[in-house]
Amino acid sequence: MTAHVDYVVVGSGLTGATIARVLHDAGWRVQVLERRAHLGGNVHEHRHPSGIRIHTYGPHYFRTNSEELWAFVNRFGAFHPFVAEVRTEVEGAVEAWPVTADYIRRVAVRRGVRNSLGYLRTSRKPPSL
Ligand SMILES: Cc1cc2nc3c(=O)[nH]c(=O)nc-3n(C[C@H](O)[C@H](O)[C@H](O)COP(=O)(O)OP(=O)(O)OC[C@H]3O[C@@H](n4cnc5c(N)ncnc54)[C@H](O)[C@@H]3O)c2cc1C
Repeated sequence: MTAHVDYVVVGSGLTGATIARVLHDAGWRVQVLERRAHLGGNVHEHRHPSGIRIHTYGPHYFRTNSEELWAFVNRFGAFHPFVAEVRTEVEGAVEAWPVTADYIRRVAVRRGVRNSLGYLRTSRKPPSL
């Protein structure tokens, strides 16, 4: 440490970086100590020679319903919007996850599963008796 600082923040991950930024914005002199060779902690990313950005420690996405947080993070970078759709592979087919009633009906028909009344579950409505 060479200069006078008001705060020393240990770690430059999201937590440390946010604390350091807020303190700095409030006019304090802040020093951040980081033991890794890069900033950002686990949200760090690096660039492959092809230009593709790689999340070094695993994929991260940002989500919030706070306009204040959204405004804050947009000060530091651009975000790519995306929509996540969770799917699961069952017997070679890609299915919705969590499993839907439609999937259960299709499996029941394929396997010839009959319910206690003895009819195949091919629709929501039981046949008229
Ligand atoms: C694979 C994976 C996927 C994730 N996906 C998401 C996601 O999609 N969305 C989401 O919101 N969160 C996600 N997270 C969680 C998110 O990564 C963490 O909540 C966030 O990075 C935590 O930040 P942090 O600053 O608390 O800790 P860290 O990121 O761990 O940062 C701590 C930093 O402090 C440094 N440090 C520690 N001790 C010392 C020391 N003694 N001296 C100097 N430096 C030190 C470390 O080197 C590190 O850089 C994911 C986590 C992982 C592992």
